[in-house]
Parts: sequence; C-alpha cells; structure tokens
Amino acid sequence: MAPQVKDYYELLEVDKKASPDEIKKAFRKLARKYHPDLNPGNKSAEQKFKEINEAYSVLGDEKKRAEYDQYGRSPFEGGGPGFDYRAHAPGNSFDFGDIFSDMFGAGGRGEAYAMKGPDMLMSLPLSLEEAFSGVTKPISFVREAVCKACGGTGAETYRQCDACKGTGKVSAAKGFFRMSQPCSACGGTGRKVTKGCSACGGNGKTMHTESLKVKIPAGADNGSKVRIRGMGGAGQGGGPAGDLQIEITVADHPIFKRKGDNILVDLPVTIGEAALGAKIEVPTIDGTAAMTLPPGTQGGQKLKLSGKGFPSAKSGRRGDQLVTIRIAVPKKITDSARAALKELEALYGESPRKGMVKKP
Ligand SMILES: [Zn+2]
Ligand SMILES: [Zn+2]
Repeated sequence: MAPQVKDYYELLEVDKKASPDEIKKAFRKLARKYHPDLNPGNKSAEQKFKEINEAYSVLGDEKKRAEYDQYGRSPFEGGGPGFDYRAHAPGNSFDFGDIFSDMFGAGGRGEAYAMKGPDMLMSLPLSLEEAFSGVTKPISFVREAVCKACGGTGAETYRQCDACKGTGKVSAAKGFFRMSQPCSACGGTGRKVTKGCSACGGNGKTMHTESLKVKIPAGADNGSKVRIRGMGGAGQGGGPAGDLQIEITVADHPIFKRKGDNILVDLPVTIGEAALGAKIEVPTIDGTAAMTLPPGTQGGQKLKLSGKGFPSAKSGRRGDQLVTIRIAVPKKITDSARAALKELEALYGESPRKGMVKKP
C-alpha cells in the first residue's frame, strides 16, 4: 500500500516560493500536530507525520529542494516502515529538541543524565534592626554533595558497558522511526561498576556540612529570599548542584512595625505635651529624632518623620516613620490635680462628642 504521492509543498502547506524559514515553521507546526505520541493509534496522523517528515527532509535542505524543484520527487523517495527521520533530516539546520524534549525528556538530545540538583530552602531569622541595616550572618547546613572520592560515579573501578560500548546510548525503535535512548544496562553512564566507592557506598553522593557567611542586603523584608547558587542538592550525572534559597523571617519588634518602606510607631505623650505643644524625642530605627508636637495635638493624630523609614529595595531612598499619638492619662490623681483637671473641663466649650450622641 504505497502512500498516495503528494507534492511536498502541498504536504507542508506552503507556497513554492516559501523561504527556508517559512518551511521550517510550517514543518514544526505540522510535526507537533501529527506527532504519533500525541495521536496514539491514529493511523492517518501517523501517515501524515511520516509524509511531512519526508517532505521536510527535502524542502528543508537547500540542495535537495533545488533538485526536487527541477526533477520532482523520485530521487528522494523514502518512507515506508522503518523510515528514519534522522537519516533524512537536513544536517544540523533543524533542532528536534523542542518537539521531542517534552515527550522523551532531554534524551533525544544526548544530555539525558546531566540533571541539576534540587534547590534547598532554609529560613534565616533577623531582627528588624538587622533587616534595616543589612547584615552578614554565618549559617551552617547539611547538604548532599558529589562524592569527592569518586567524582560522583559511585565507583572505585569500572569497565566499559558492553550493551552500549561505553556511549551510554542505544538506538531503539519508537513507532516507525528510530531514536537514541539511554542505555538501560548502565543507566546511561557507559560504564559498569566493578568496585563500588567506599567513601559514598556507591551512590556518588555524600552528606557535607557547609558553613557560609550570607550577606543580607539592607532593607530585606519578611519573606524575601536570597539565592546562593550551587549550594543546594548534588546534581545527577555531572549536572550542577541546585541552589540554596534563604528565606528571611523578620522578628516582631517591641516598638516598631514595618509597613512597606514605612515604619509605624505608637507614641504616648502627656496631656500637657498634647495640649500645650512640645519638642519631644522620638525613637527611630537608627537613633532618636526630635519632633515638634503642635499645641492642641489630638490622640490618634499622625505625624510624619520624613526619611526615617526603611530603604526602598528599588531606589534605596528611605521611607518615612509615621508616628501615631497616644494621650497618656495619669492613673493616680492627687487632690490638687483633680482641682486642676476640673478647671480644665471648664475649658471645653462644648462636648467633644457633640452630634454623635443624641440627648434624651
Ligand atoms: Zn564516592
Ligand atoms: Zn550501557
């Protein structure tokens, strides 16, 4: 049952004058659409896939395309069971990786076993002051690292794998075409261990205690992360180690609360300071600052100390400190104080709750 002979340009749904780029794009689109692994059991998709591969093996190659344009299809008649797209694929001009990597892992590109190690996460508690100014902290943790004795092979001595002749790959049929697969006999390493590494018990990895100093930049917020490359779990097959991610946790502060780049403070003042106005000292994250209370300051009123907040991660400019005034009322009242306060009461011309409460 010979496939119906179709024009290669028609198969790829492109114009005869299509540029190499257009042909490549058209092929990729169709190859994704008709790939047998995406159309299991669909014979017509399989046939179509075979045809477009064949068409592309010719039209994707400048020289073959020119010959095809001149002489037609016959010199390159291919197809049939066992059609090997690799044999027909034009040189290095096409990378199957992006189509096949999803389906077969990176195996189609010959880098199956080099895998990055897992990332590790640890949390680092900081005080608000440390988060404000930045700090260098010593940390210590245990991670799985490549065994130094055997370089991660797990072997003290080994010989070449017979099944793959040391290449780590074997050619296997995948549907109607053939492709390279990891050698199962040796796990893709190309080697057979004859004596296991005694330092790591043959698994290629050992536990290491790492001690580092981590620099936390000024302004770090709760939940922000610092990444240290290569300090995570060991990679596979010569792949790089994962990363260590350090998550900052900032402890609550007895006085200051952070809100974005601003710092919030509740500040108690006396009745006299509030009523008469005063120059007072206010705590800030980096020392005390002078602040003027205007006469007649009310409880709950907010005053701003510009530039006394946290440094912005973007601009480095400091936010503000927002001070909320609390009126501190003395709990013990002497007789003379009582008399003075009574006099003070008379100064309220009307109730401060006027309009809020209806009198019966
Ligand atoms: Zn070892
Ligand atoms: Zn092998």
